[in-house]
Amino acid sequence: MVNKNEVYEITIEDIGTEGQGIGHVDGEAVFVKDTLPGDTASIKIIKAKKNLAYGRLMEIIKPSGYRTTPLCDVARSCGGCTLQHMDYDAQLKYKWDKVKNLLQRIGGISEPEKLMESAEDKKAYGLVEPFHYRNKMQFPVGYDKEGKAVLGFYAGRTHSIIPLSDCVIGHPVNKFIIKAVKEFIDRYKISIYDEEKHKGLIRHVLTRVGFHTNELMVCMVINGNDIPHYEKLHEMISSEVAKFGGEILFKSFMININKDKTNRILGFDSKVLIGDPFISDYIGDVKFNISPQSFFQVNPEMTEKLYSKALEYAALSGGEKVWDMYCGIGTISLFLAEKAGNVYGVEIVPQAIDDAKNNAKLNDIKNVEFHVGKAEEVVPGLYEKDRERYTADVVVVDPPRKGCDEKLLETLVSMAPARLVYVSCDPATLARDIKYLTDHNFELKKVAVFDQFSHGIHVETVVQLINKNAKAKHHVRISMDAEDYYSIKDSEKKEEER
Ligand code: SAH
Repeated sequence: MVNKNEVYEITIEDIGTEGQGIGHVDGEAVFVKDTLPGDTASIKIIKAKKNLAYGRLMEIIKPSGYRTTPLCDVARSCGGCTLQHMDYDAQLKYKWDKVKNLLQRIGGISEPEKLMESAEDKKAYGLVEPFHYRNKMQFPVGYDKEGKAVLGFYAGRTHSIIPLSDCVIGHPVNKFIIKAVKEFIDRYKISIYDEEKHKGLIRHVLTRVGFHTNELMVCMVINGNDIPHYEKLHEMISSEVAKFGGEILFKSFMININKDKTNRILGFDSKVLIGDPFISDYIGDVKFNISPQSFFQVNPEMTEKLYSKALEYAALSGGEKVWDMYCGIGTISLFLAEKAGNVYGVEIVPQAIDDAKNNAKLNDIKNVEFHVGKAEEVVPGLYEKDRERYTADVVVVDPPRKGCDEKLLETLVSMAPARLVYVSCDPATLARDIKYLTDHNFELKKVAVFDQFSHGIHVETVVQLINKNAKAKHHVRISMDAEDYYSIKDSEKKEEER
């Protein structure tokens, strides 16, 4: 039995799903954040439960071979990067292994490594340069002890701000924006939002950069209607950003109004102060307009690799009917459309569907049709209504972490697409859904693991399943001419209004 507040020396043997090291004291498992397999460490017990305890790392006595020095000074205290102390190659191995183990344990796949890409070196596909990869950052704003403005991140699971001058996973231009905003707030004595008192103006700074276009958006999230002297802030950001030396185009300077007492970062209204209400970026050849609230994948380099793999697994030859479920702003739908007959996208957030339709127009893509609603309701509904039109040769699903609703999986089984491509941001729910699907006529064929969130614990997986009962389907491509396109839009509007 381990005791709270007592210090022990332990050797870390394993790593848990949240990235914590796991060792044993007197046969009892102890979870220790910031440690790695192979570390010998002195740790202090902070919580002791029956058969399980949590420890805090006090000192590394003998470092693991996987250990590396984090690039960021505050990597340990900041809640963002859980794995920066782990060598990048080891991170990629950890993520690959995590998927393999879950497919085996929860998915009931006996030798998953035989289906997994990169089986030889057993690594997730990663970035060549695993820093400065994020295109979006959201910095909370606060005061330091001297009453000066700071931008940073919340310390893990708290609301105290760790001040930052830069963030090593964000685009390097952020360093210049942080400096300009701090100087502006101090010089013009602009108030900063205080969560407890629900007073003060500046809450967060949201930045987005188009990695292919170099377009920059800065959006100030405020508890109010405007920022005094905002032209000066624009000037100060512009002149700092010019020092960055890259070809950054400061294209969109906005405010987002959030007057609610809430943990939610963004409010519902955004307004342009100077420039455009969006920036643009590309995934492959497809162009996207991105506004402050738009969902857009944060790691553009890996996203392109991930979607290319999804396209490869979809194995389209030209005439197929493809469903893209949980389609967000239609990124995967539009990426697949050129190679498909017709693509149907389904998404629960109406605003994302508006973005998806606009993105389709922006790219002059006409063979896609978007539907608002829960996939588990919309898909069975449409499929029942018109089996001919809404049949599926290929289905792509990209659900949130909780995975697919069983009702949707049931419908997928009866739709019997020849190929099902599952894009997953949580391998545990992926494995659970694979178990259901492989119990119902599907067979797991291929698995690829991607490191979308370097230095974090999350892992993205793309798998291909084939249906053993797939019916051969013959159909003509439905031409979505202007009239069709708008009539569908209208019928959807009615659905949205309901
Ligand atoms: N495929 C998109 C987005 C994937 S994120 C992309 O790559 O950009 C998952 C999406 O599922 C989110 O947009 C979320 O709003 C949506 N979603 C969550 N629950 C849903 C449900 N029950 N039905 C349909 N969409 C849902």
